[in-house]
Amino acid sequence: MMPMPVRRTLRRWNRLYRETRVVAQALREKDHPVFAHVVVTRRCNLACTYCSEFDDHSKPVPAEELLKRIDKLAALGTTTVTITGGETLLHPELELVIARIRSYRMIAVMITNGYLLSVDRIKSLNKAGLDRMQISIDNIEPDDVSMKSLRILDLRLRWLAEHAEFPVHIHSVVGAGTSKPADVIQIQSRARQLGHLSTAGIVHDETGHILPIDEESRRVLKQVEGSTKSAFSFARHNPWRAKLLAGKPNDWHCPAGGRHLYICEFGLVHYCMSQRGYPAIPLEKYTIEDCIREAKKPKACAPYCTIFCVHRIAWVDRLRENPSQALTELFPPQEGSDQPAIPAPVRALTALFAAPKPGSKPSGATLAFRKAAMRLLKIS
Ligand code: SF4
Ligand code: SF4
Repeated sequence: MMPMPVRRTLRRWNRLYRETRVVAQALREKDHPVFAHVVVTRRCNLACTYCSEFDDHSKPVPAEELLKRIDKLAALGTTTVTITGGETLLHPELELVIARIRSYRMIAVMITNGYLLSVDRIKSLNKAGLDRMQISIDNIEPDDVSMKSLRILDLRLRWLAEHAEFPVHIHSVVGAGTSKPADVIQIQSRARQLGHLSTAGIVHDETGHILPIDEESRRVLKQVEGSTKSAFSFARHNPWRAKLLAGKPNDWHCPAGGRHLYICEFGLVHYCMSQRGYPAIPLEKYTIEDCIREAKKPKACAPYCTIFCVHRIAWVDRLRENPSQALTELFPPQEGSDQPAIPAPVRALTALFAAPKPGSKPSGATLAFRKAAMRLLKIS
């Protein structure tokens, strides 16, 4: 068997290739779902007080049903599937679902509270082809609000550091969900020490709206954002969050129901986890026309929405429709400069795949590069 560093490097390159393809395709085509969340079980082994996503009794969705849902998402052209719950590791056949996602070249992501991880389960997730794992950790010591605690999960994080062939994101929620926001700094520092990635989000209510956030939580969020190194990271470039934290609404169009789908345990399509019940059409009957119609619908919940992944897709759509304005807003000039601080890879991808401004024509060289890149990324 190949040594772990070699396996990790090969998988990193393969993932980078496929994720570049996801962005390129999203920039180029406007109708397919970019992200889908699929619930594999509503049951959770914990009971965080801020959560409205779980119960303590539901059975796992049968694997056969889940595989049909993955097949249908692939047929709609979906590019990334995130497995969610409840607690995903309670599903005994999770690996079958991950392998089916990967069989369509889609990106396979899972969200877990990490409690049920073992070295054997990590190895079986490697084998299934998991691309990314997100673990939520809220505090250092368990309290009345959340048991997703670093002290309990540290051993699992070490197992992951040693055995996982996929990147692990440690996500912490700041706001009403955590009694000690400063814990987040320590959690993120431990995550990085072990080689994991770390992000922080703001707590929202069951409708997706931001909840009141105190000064200490704001300071923690700022510190966490400042320590994110990746130029690609939306943790560093998220003007919508800055506005919400300032108590202001965002003026944006939410493309959920088309670019983002949330598939509940009953196989119904919803806009997102916070807007369940709309449009509530069975996935098996959902068509690309449904995607187009629902994505276009104005959503009253949009101005104060905190659902990060849907904001991200909306930005990709804005990049396609009006690249220069979107890039300037997303990467504003740094102190001492009047030029937007756009990372070179973002500039290159946008130039290659976003539509040119009306009335302007791409140069011959751009067209030749675009053709070569599309062939390389296998985009028709
Ligand atoms: S672990 Fe996750 S799904 Fe379970 S109760 Fe907590 S937030 Fe909800
Ligand atoms: S704006 Fe969109 S993503 Fe946000 S809560 Fe509403 S439907 Fe969900």
